[in-house]
Amino acid sequence: MENWRNKLKIISFDVDGTLVDLEYNDLVWFKEIPQLIAQKKKIGFEESLKLVQDEYNKLGEHNLDWYDIKYWISYFGLEISSEEILEKYEPQIKIFTDVIPVLEELKESFLLIIVTAMPREFLTPKMTKLKKYFKFTFSALSDFKELKNSEIYLKICQILKVNPAQVLHIGDHWKFDYLAAHKAGMNALYLDRSNTKKGKFIINNLTEIKRVSMR
Ligand SMILES: [Mg+2]
Repeated sequence: MENWRNKLKIISFDVDGTLVDLEYNDLVWFKEIPQLIAQKKKIGFEESLKLVQDEYNKLGEHNLDWYDIKYWISYFGLEISSEEILEKYEPQIKIFTDVIPVLEELKESFLLIIVTAMPREFLTPKMTKLKKYFKFTFSALSDFKELKNSEIYLKICQILKVNPAQVLHIGDHWKFDYLAAHKAGMNALYLDRSNTKKGKFIINNLTEIKRVSMR
């Protein structure tokens, strides 16, 4: 890792759990949707929440539809647009406190990009304060109709005309961020904000990127 600085050109970031906390997504999936269903079915919130969670779990995070709010609006027969839901909670979007200072510093030496699994419509409200730092944003679902996997990371390198070894990807999902980017030949860091995992390729906050990339 000592030589990263010489060859590293691009730093790639996941969004949810990495730059932005998960509360916004949770409000959409575990508050707004169950609330709308409770109203529609005239059942209590707790009952509705359980029903919704069961449906989410049945589909599972490896199914693309799991991430698609329009799919769920139609699946549950809700009369609301995805835009209305996503805009409603926009004020609750929280950027982790370490993000802006780290981006300010990294943008001087590297090209910064976003690689998110979520559809682009989820990305837009989260990027209002962040978009000025990023040259490119990729949504695995919207742009490639897939989840984040090694092929997608390779395609992104091809699009950006860069060798995977010149890219560092950072994210909080062991499989979709760390393993997939690593398999594509990228440098990868697993972000564990819960501070429980330690290791050479594990960081517990974004400030630690500088330790490994800025030598
Ligand atoms: Mg994430």
